[in-house]
Amino acid sequence: MAEPAFSVCVYCGSRPGENPAFAEAAQAVGTWIGHHGGQLVYGGGRSGLMGTVAEATRQAGGRVVGVIPQALVDKELANRLCDELHIVQTMHERKAMMAERSDAFLALPGGIGTFEELFEVWTWRQLGYHDKPLGLLNVAGYYDALMGFLNHSVASGFMGEWQMGLLHASADTEALLRTLVQSAGPDHAPVPLRDVI
Ligand code: AMP
Repeated sequence: MAEPAFSVCVYCGSRPGENPAFAEAAQAVGTWIGHHGGQLVYGGGRSGLMGTVAEATRQAGGRVVGVIPQALVDKELANRLCDELHIVQTMHERKAMMAERSDAFLALPGGIGTFEELFEVWTWRQLGYHDKPLGLLNVAGYYDALMGFLNHSVASGFMGEWQMGLLHASADTEALLRTLVQSAGPDHAPVPLRDVI
């Protein structure tokens, strides 16, 4: 297989969620990555939206890199169909490897694991530990309340507009993926991420 054109890290639920639109969006993201010759970097499981995005990428001819801690191999159903499946010791190793292997980050609907991963790369970005673009796919209004709260944080003086501006939030899968891939520069990590965490 040729070198992937780009590499996108996707954070998403280890559950499918109630609304079928969530899985449809995960499917669309994986299909877009595969059809554009890209690589998916993700948490390496087959459960929930994680499994959906990985299988869609693979089916569309994309490359799939999974990174899963040993302790979650059974719980999150480690995906042996990955082109690369890295079984690591800790959650910190997982997140560092996922960040290092990616040109951009995209969060889909998910739970606290997804939130934590998104907020971590967002805070790393604002501190200048990397300069990779960040996206939030707001499927079926799932993140409306979060966006409302974040704007409340800006209005309350705890966040700057520029920090909000680092996160590309959109309900349009294709437009968002295009924005992320196009704004990913050639040299993304001013500081090796392993030095941060
Ligand atoms: P969730 O959104 O809660 O379904 O979790 C999505 C993914 O995030 C799963 O692969 C979880 O293992 C992972 N996750 C959960 N907690 C954390 C954490 N503290 N740091 C990094 N990933 C996590």
